[in-house]
Amino acid sequence: TGQKQTHGFQTEVKQLLQLMIHSLYSNKEIFLRELVSNAADASDKLRFKALQNADLFEGDANLRVRISADAENNTVTISDNGIGMTHDEIVAHLGTIAKSGTADFFSKLSGDQAKDSQLIGQFGVGFYSAFIVADKVTVRSRAAGAASNEAVEWSSEGEGEFTVQAIEKSGRGTDIILHLKEDEKEYADEWRLRSIVTKYSDHISVAVEMLSPEVEAVAEEKDDEGNVVRPAIEAKPAQWEAINKATALWTREKADISDEEYNEFYKHVSHDFADPLLWEHNKVEGKTEYTSLLYIPSKAPFDMYNREKQHGLKLYVQRVFIMDDAEQFMPTYLRFVKGLLDSNDLPLNVSREILQDNKVTQAIRKGCTKRVLKMLEKLGNKDAEKYQSFWDEFGQVLKEGPAEDMANKEQIAKLLRFSSTETDSAVQNVSLPQYVERMKDGQDKIYYVVADSFEAAKNSPHLEVFRKKGIEVLLLADRIDEWLVSHLTEFDGKQLQSVTRGGLDLGEMDDAETKEAQEKLEQEFDDVISRVKAALEGKVKDVKVSHRLTDSPACIVTDEHDMSSQMAKLMASVGQ
Ligand code: ADP
Ligand code: MG
Repeated sequence: TGQKQTHGFQTEVKQLLQLMIHSLYSNKEIFLRELVSNAADASDKLRFKALQNADLFEGDANLRVRISADAENNTVTISDNGIGMTHDEIVAHLGTIAKSGTADFFSKLSGDQAKDSQLIGQFGVGFYSAFIVADKVTVRSRAAGAASNEAVEWSSEGEGEFTVQAIEKSGRGTDIILHLKEDEKEYADEWRLRSIVTKYSDHISVAVEMLSPEVEAVAEEKDDEGNVVRPAIEAKPAQWEAINKATALWTREKADISDEEYNEFYKHVSHDFADPLLWEHNKVEGKTEYTSLLYIPSKAPFDMYNREKQHGLKLYVQRVFIMDDAEQFMPTYLRFVKGLLDSNDLPLNVSREILQDNKVTQAIRKGCTKRVLKMLEKLGNKDAEKYQSFWDEFGQVLKEGPAEDMANKEQIAKLLRFSSTETDSAVQNVSLPQYVERMKDGQDKIYYVVADSFEAAKNSPHLEVFRKKGIEVLLLADRIDEWLVSHLTEFDGKQLQSVTRGGLDLGEMDDAETKEAQEKLEQEFDDVISRVKAALEGKVKDVKVSHRLTDSPACIVTDEHDMSSQMAKLMASVGQ
C-alpha cells in the first residue's frame, strides 16, 4: 500500500454534510438507496464502456451489487463490480460536489438549519448520505482495466478531511464500507438491510445480492418401524442470491408496476429526493420504436436557470445504458422533465454528435414533446390544485415555449396561467381558454398589461376604462412576460393586445353615443393639447386626449408599432 495523503473537503461538502445529518434524521435508511443507486450507475457505465472494449469485463461480465453486514464489527459493506474509480476520480467525485451552481446555492442558505434543511431536497445527497449512519466511511476501488496494484482507498470521518492511498485490490469495482455510529447499529442486520433494499431499490436493473443463511446438514430420522419421521436436510453453504427482480423497470408491463416502484425509480434516475408530481410510461411502436418513461418533478431544482446546468433524459439503446443528460430529446422549455428513453433504432455506438442531427432523434423528440404537453393538459383539466403546484414551480420555464416551439404554440398557450383583473390576485391561475370564455359580447381581443411588478400591473392607470367596462385584463409582471407576448400574439383566433398601446379601440363595445361624446371632448381640449405638446416638445412623440382614463389625469402609452416601454427597459438593461 502506498502513502496516505490527506485532503480537505470542498467547503460546500462540509456544509452539505452538516445539513444532511440535521435534515434526514427521520429518514436515515435512504443511505442504502443512494449507495445502491451509485453501484447500479457504475455497472451501467461499465457495460457502456465495454461495448467498445470488451476486455474491460476482465472475463467477468456478470455485474452485480452485493450487500453484507458484520454485526460484530458494526459495519455494512456495499460492493459492486462496476466501472470503479481511479485515484484522481475518487478525489474529484468524493471530495467535491460536481454540480454547477453549487457554490451559489450554498451561499444563499440562511444559516438557520431548520429552514435550510427544507432546501436539501432540491439538492440531492448521494454518496455523502453514508455519513447519516456512519462515523467513518472507507471506499476501496479499482477502475475497470487498471492493474490490481493500481487501486485506491479513500477514507473519512465526514468532518473536514479525507485520506487517499494506493492499495492492492484484485476485484474490479468499488467497496463502500460503513462503520456504523453507536446509535445506528440496527443497520448491521441482514434482515433490516434486506427490507430496505426491497422498499427502495427493487427496480434496480442489476442484481442486488445478499448472502442466504447457511444451512447445516441434518440426518434422516426414522421410527422403530423404519418410517421416515424427519427427512434429511442437506448442508448448504451461504450463497449470494439476488433479492431484487433485476429487470429494467421500464421494460415491464405498466399494470405490474406500483406507484411506489415508479416513485423510487424516479429518485434513482433523477438523483432527486422527493417523489415526482406525475409520470407517463409508454411503449411506442411503428416507424420509430422506443419506450419512454417521463417524469415531472414536484419541485424545481435549485439551478433551473443555470445555463450550464446539465439536463435531459437518460438514454438507453436496446436496454443498454448509453448516456445521462441527453438533451436532444426535449426542447429547452421542457428542461425540467426527467426520465429515460430506450430506443430500438439508434445504434449502440451513438454519440452526442450523431444524436444532434438525426432523424430518429427528431422523431423521438417530437413524440416526447407532445407526450409531455398532453400529460400537462390532462393534469390541468383533471386536477387544478396539482396543476397549480406544477405551474408555481415550472410556469416561468414553460413561458419560454411559444418562442421556442412554433409547432406546438397553441398547445402550450393552453397550459399557461396568468393573474388577471378577474381576481386581482398575484396567484397565476387564469388560463387563456377561461379568459376567452369570459369575454364580453363584441370583445375580439385578449387584453393584457405588462409591468415591473404585480402591484404596478394591478394599479396601472391604463386599466381604468377596462375596469369600468368590466373587461378582464391579464396582469403580467414576470421577467419573461414581455418575451412571451412578443411571440404569442394570438390565441384561439383572438389577438393579444396590450392596453398600453396606441389607439385603443374597444370596437363594438363603444356605442355610438359614447363615440359622439368622445369627439366633442377632443374638440374642447384642443387648446390644452397644444399647450402640453409645446411643453413636452422633443420628449414625446404625440399628445392625445385619452378615453381610457377614469380617475388618473394622464398616462404614457406606446405607439402601436414601437417597442413597448417594458421591452425598452429590458433592452437598456442588456446594454442595447
Ligand atoms: P450522483 O450519483 O448524483 O452523481 P453521488 O454523490 O451519489 O452523486 O456520487 C458522486 C459520484 O461519485 C458519482 O457521480 C460517481 O462518479 C462516483 N461514484 C459514487 N459511487 C460510485 C461507485 N460505486 N462506483 C463508481 N463511481 C462512484
Ligand atoms: Mg448517486
